[in-house]
Amino acid sequence: MTGTLAPEAMPLLSVRKLTKLFGNFAACNGIDLDIAPGEIHALLGENGAGKSTLVKMLFGVLSPTEGDIIWQGQPVSVGSPSEARRLGIGMVFQHFSLFEALTVAENIALSLDPKISLKEIAREAEQLSRAYGLPLDPNAHVADLSVGERQRIEIVRALLQNPRLIILDEPTSVLTPQEADKLFETLAKLKAEGRSVLYISHRLEEVQRICDRATVLRHGKVTGACDPRKETPASLARMMVGSDVASVSRATGEALGAPQIEVMGLSVAPRTPFAVALKSISMNVRAGEVLAIAGVAGNGQGELFDALSGEYPVYNNDAIHLRGKPVGRLGINGRRLMGAGFVPEERHGHAAVPGMSLSDNLLLARSRSDRKAFLTGGFLRIVRGSTIKAAARRISETMDVRKSGADPLAGSLSGGNLQKFIVGRELDRQPSVLVVNQPTWGVDAGAASRIRQALVDLAKAGSAVIVISQDLDEIFEVATNIAVISDGMLSEAHPVEEMTLEKIGLLMGGIHTSQSGAAQHAH
Ligand code: ADP
Ligand code: MG
Repeated sequence: MTGTLAPEAMPLLSVRKLTKLFGNFAACNGIDLDIAPGEIHALLGENGAGKSTLVKMLFGVLSPTEGDIIWQGQPVSVGSPSEARRLGIGMVFQHFSLFEALTVAENIALSLDPKISLKEIAREAEQLSRAYGLPLDPNAHVADLSVGERQRIEIVRALLQNPRLIILDEPTSVLTPQEADKLFETLAKLKAEGRSVLYISHRLEEVQRICDRATVLRHGKVTGACDPRKETPASLARMMVGSDVASVSRATGEALGAPQIEVMGLSVAPRTPFAVALKSISMNVRAGEVLAIAGVAGNGQGELFDALSGEYPVYNNDAIHLRGKPVGRLGINGRRLMGAGFVPEERHGHAAVPGMSLSDNLLLARSRSDRKAFLTGGFLRIVRGSTIKAAARRISETMDVRKSGADPLAGSLSGGNLQKFIVGRELDRQPSVLVVNQPTWGVDAGAASRIRQALVDLAKAGSAVIVISQDLDEIFEVATNIAVISDGMLSEAHPVEEMTLEKIGLLMGGIHTSQSGAAQHAH
C-alpha cells in the first residue's frame, strides 16, 4: 500500500474506451471500468458478451485494438501474462492450462522464475493452499485430480505471485455447490487482505452473494454498473439480456401417466480412454414427467445421451425400453420411428448443418416415416418444398426464432436462435419421449426461458422428457423429478420439492444415499 490517497480516491485498475476487434467484429467496444482496492467486482454478461476477451486484454493475452489500461493511476501496456504478473495481476482461466502428466508443483514451477527449486515451490504451495483453505498435494499428478482440485492449482499458482488483483473467469461453472462455497470463502479472505477480485459469472445468485459491485456487458458494451445486492435477479437479467425474461411455469400436482422410457441396469464400457463408463444406470420416466439429470461436466452425460438416443446402441437390448419395447440395440432412427426425439449437446455439425437452409436441416432430421408426410403421393416422389418450408415457418413462429429472411442458412442464426429452432424441430414431431442434453448451453436468457417453457409444455401435454443439464437453475425450473449423474452412476430420482442444492451437491460429490438412508461412498 503506497501513498496517502484514500482507497476510494484511486482505483486499483481502470479501463477506458477499451476495444478489441476481431476483423470487423467488436468483441469489446469502448469499455469503461474501475476496480477499487479490496473489492470483489463482478463482470456479468451472457455468453459471447465479451467478458473473456476483456480480461484477456487485462492479463496480456490479447492486445487491445484501442483504449487504455490504467494501473494504480499509471497508463500501462500489458504485453504478456508475465508482464501482467509483474504488475500484480493474477488470473485463473476458464479453461485450465495444466499439463496432465506433471505434478502439481511441476505445473506451478512452469509459471515461476526457473531459479526457484521444485522443493521450495512445493513447500510454498502447500503453505498457501493451507492458509487459503484450498487443500492440495503438491506431489499429486494433475491427471488424477478432479476439476475442483485443478482449479485450486490455478488459484494457488496465481497467489504465489502475491497479486493485488485476481481475475477468475467463470470459476464456478465447473464446481459443485460445496466446492463453490469453499471458493467463496477463499475470495472473502483475499478481499479481507485488501486484494481486489474481478469475478466473471453469469450466475446472478452467486454474484449477489459475494460481489460488491457489478459491471454488465452486452454485445461488447457496458450496459450497466450497479451494486448487485440492490438489484433483483430480474433487473440484473434485464441488463444482461436487454429485455424482460419470462419465468417458466411448471406443471404442478398433475398425475403422471404410464412409463414411456425405462432404463434398467444400463452399463456401457468407455469407448475411448477419455470416456466415462456408465455403471448400472436405472430410471423410469412417465408420461407428464420431466426428469432432470444434474451433474458436473464430464461425469457421463454425453455417454448417457448416446446410449439413450441410440447414437451408440448398447449391447444389452433389454437395458432400455421405449413404451414397453426393448430398444437397446436399436439405432437412433429406429428409436425416432417409435416416437422418440433427441437433441444432442453439440450444435454445429451435429444437430444442424450450418451451410444448409433451415428447411433442408428440417428434412434432414426427419426419420423415414416422418419424411413421408412431406412427400407428395406416398412413395418416393418429389419432396414438396412448400410443405417443409411451411413446417420450418411454423417451428420458427412457435419458438420465436429471430432470423434474417424466410429460410436462411442455419449457420447465419445466432446460437440462441439456432438452438430454439433445433428444439422446436424435435417438438414439432410431438415425440412421446424427448431426451435433451444441455438444452440451453451458451444460449441467451430469453431464448433459454423459451426453450425451458417448451420442454415443460411438452411434458404437460403427456410426453416423457429427460433433460440433462449442468445448470442447476435450469434443473429446478423444469424438473418434476431430479437425479444426479456422478462418475457414470445415476442417483435415484427425487421429486423437485424434496431436492435442495445441498443434496444435489452431495450426490455430485459421489455420495449416494441408499433407500435405507445410510450414506456411503460410491467408490
Ligand atoms: P464471453 O466470455 O462473454 O462469453 P468472449 O469474450 O469469449 O465472450 O467472446 C465475445 C465475442 O467475441 C464472441 O462473439 C466470440 O465469438 C468472439 N471472439 C472471441 N474470441 C475471438 C477470436 N479469437 N476471433 C474471433 N472472434 C472471437
Ligand atoms: Mg468467456
